[in-house]
Amino acid sequence: MPDCAIIGGGPVGLVFAILNHASKVKIQIFESKNRGATNQDNKALALSNGSRLILEEIGIWDRLDKNITKIEKIHTSQVGSFGRTLLDAGEFNEESLGYIISYGDLMAVLQEEIECISNIMTFYETKVTKCIDEKAILNLSLETNNKIKNLKSEFVILADGAAEDIEGLELNKKIKHFDHTAIVTKVLTEIPHRNIAYERFTSNGPIALLPNRNDKFSLVWTGPRKFIEKLEQLNQESFLSQLHESFGDRVGSFLECEKRISFDLKQTYVEVMHSNIVALGNASQTMHPVAGQGLNTGLRDAYKLNQSLIGGSKIKSLEALLDEYKHSRAGERKKILNFTEMLVKSFSNDLVGLKKVRGYALSLLDITRPIKQSFVRKMSYGE
Ligand SMILES: Cc1cc2nc3c(=O)[nH]c(=O)nc-3n(C[C@H](O)[C@H](O)[C@H](O)COP(=O)(O)OP(=O)(O)OC[C@H]3O[C@@H](n4cnc5c(N)ncnc54)[C@H](O)[C@@H]3O)c2cc1C
Repeated sequence: MPDCAIIGGGPVGLVFAILNHASKVKIQIFESKNRGATNQDNKALALSNGSRLILEEIGIWDRLDKNITKIEKIHTSQVGSFGRTLLDAGEFNEESLGYIISYGDLMAVLQEEIECISNIMTFYETKVTKCIDEKAILNLSLETNNKIKNLKSEFVILADGAAEDIEGLELNKKIKHFDHTAIVTKVLTEIPHRNIAYERFTSNGPIALLPNRNDKFSLVWTGPRKFIEKLEQLNQESFLSQLHESFGDRVGSFLECEKRISFDLKQTYVEVMHSNIVALGNASQTMHPVAGQGLNTGLRDAYKLNQSLIGGSKIKSLEALLDEYKHSRAGERKKILNFTEMLVKSFSNDLVGLKKVRGYALSLLDITRPIKQSFVRKMSYGE
């Protein structure tokens, strides 16, 4: 593998760099924010068992452990219907169905780890503004403190989280707007979480309560933009009572919440039109957080690309390896996007009769062990 430039020092870019450190090639990461800018980001991420294996492989799981909350059970239901599903880690001989960590805690450990690796250099407050493809060489323009520097690289990883378009990059980008926004916060409830995660589908969109530290739940409430804008404007008391009304009584009353933050949601599927550039993580696919699979899919991208590079670098050109990698990931990427889109559309739809069908579907998932097993495997390991 030739020396490599990574655009974006989010979790996926950093994990890819750490996975590759043994190759001893020079890796340069360019991150537009300053070091530690994301450390206070409280957004809760549900990590799958597959992601745990990747984080163990790069040697950081033990350091994350103190900030992690296990998900031992997942309770899924919909408003106004009999159907519900309970997934229990014990049933599948797993220690846990997933793990909750905040984006900031994960980033803090990854940034620390990367600083211990001599062949990886991270340049903070450095924004890549151009990437011009001159056949085998990519010319990057880097902006730091209003000054522009140029860098040549034979191999570029795009891990910018699908932020802004970068001049010179040719991407075939398919975007779907759901007109959905997510509001996230932490909430304290009358009944403690007991390591249970709840997903409740309402006609306004799904409400996820994820067990977190200090016996609080992380709330991810997604719905139509206008509806979420109204929630943003409510004072704490009215917000909590609206949440109680929509979620029901399973965790008792909602007692308090922290600062509420909103995110606009869209789905993207990107094909990179350059033979020596590959997109990973959100730069490659962005999805609705309803199934908590965005980062998990991004970490699998990083892992699979690393495997392809290790496996074939002695016999194949970089271009051939990247081409093979892109083809091998297309199937899983499309399946996971279709699955999350199906969840958003079918469970947020109030067509006559559909609610009953969804009720049956949830009951069927609850009582049919092979379906349950394959569902848990898919969510845990992407297989
Ligand atoms: C409300 C919500 C809940 C979620 N819950 C889950 C969950 O439970 N489980 C899960 O798996 N996923 C979840 N996700 C998705 C998850 O957050 C993303 O998939 C993940 O952050 C993607 O990581 P990334 O490294 O690809 O991109 P990012 O985290 O977006 O990082 C990209 C980095 O690139 C930098 N950058 C951008 N442009 C440039 C540039 N031009 N030059 C230099 N640097 C640049 C940015 O500053 C940023 O640091 C959730 C998302 C949301 C919004």
